[in-house]
Amino acid sequence: MTFLDITTDLKTRLPRLRGRLLANQPLAELTWFRVGGPAQVLFMPEDEADLAYALQNLPREMAVTAIGLGSNLIVRDGGVEGVVIRLGRGFSDVVIEPDHCIRTGTAVPDVKVARAAADAGIAGLAFLRGIPGAIGGALRMNGGAYGRETKDVLVEARAVDRAGQVHVLTNGDMHYTYRHCGAPEDFIFTQALFKGEAGDRAVISAEMDKITDAREATQPIKSRTGGSTFKNPPGHKAWQLIDAAGCRGLIVGGAQVSELHCNFLINLGNATAADIETLGETVRTRVKAHSGIQLEWEIKRIGLSLS
Ligand SMILES: Cc1cc2nc3c(=O)[nH]c(=O)nc-3n(C[C@H](O)[C@H](O)[C@H](O)COP(=O)(O)OP(=O)(O)OC[C@H]3O[C@@H](n4cnc5c(N)ncnc54)[C@H](O)[C@@H]3O)c2cc1C
Repeated sequence: MTFLDITTDLKTRLPRLRGRLLANQPLAELTWFRVGGPAQVLFMPEDEADLAYALQNLPREMAVTAIGLGSNLIVRDGGVEGVVIRLGRGFSDVVIEPDHCIRTGTAVPDVKVARAAADAGIAGLAFLRGIPGAIGGALRMNGGAYGRETKDVLVEARAVDRAGQVHVLTNGDMHYTYRHCGAPEDFIFTQALFKGEAGDRAVISAEMDKITDAREATQPIKSRTGGSTFKNPPGHKAWQLIDAAGCRGLIVGGAQVSELHCNFLINLGNATAADIETLGETVRTRVKAHSGIQLEWEIKRIGLSLS
């Protein structure tokens, strides 16, 4: 699928834009699953001011979708209409601040923030070691692991809305619940301020090593996957419900329910986004029939189906 190339029009309409605009840019390579169609336009803003300028001046009706490192995403096979925004270099500063705080751009991978905190003797952020996304995704997903989540360490976040207005949100403004952020859907996060507590570098590093080992033993982290597919329903583990419904190893097209961790779906190599989504929906149907529980997608699905 190829979209109409609107980049020339956009460049005329936004003469002071500094970031790159690319037409029909493949998105599969920007996601962990490695599936899906192109972005009609991929925009990589230079910095927050460039992002705000773009959002202010793009046609109001044009769809805008933010992506991070694509570790929680299925991009559908027909691609994503409108402008897909991916933050890069201009959002990659990490600064240690007083009181065991760390300020970071949202394009910074979570692991890098965990490491910077450890090096500075800041405890409490080691859980980020195991989450393969960037900070923007952690803010939007309330990413968490091993009993901690983003909401436990976030002081404030900066965001730009669809009209180009910059906002500073407190932790409360994010309206966090499990794997959910209640900040307006159109907000694109640009920066986060996290607070940990005093810790010993060696102890934090050991904790991070333990997380790495545990991940390697229990999750298919070297596969093309999107991590946990479904949220854990209250009082249940999604993987146990999936296992009990007989879905471990289930295959649809080129997609499979992981044998190692059955809340993970895997692209065996030639899956389409439709294969993965159909497999997910098949699992949901079987779990509902077996246990009466309706699983809710944790993975975000964006874009258009081909059929
Ligand atoms: C092997 C593996 C293990 C995983 N383990 C965990 C885990 O332990 N815990 C956990 O919580 N998750 C886990 N995940 C899921 C995923 O890593 C997290 O959800 C992560 O926070 C997503 O970040 P990302 O940058 O990849 O975001 P993406 O997948 O690119 O996007 C996810 C969502 O965030 C939004 N988004 C991204 N950046 C921004 C931004 N700057 N502003 C506004 N919205 C934005 C997107 O629009 C989308 O809705 C795992 C994934 C994999 C592949």
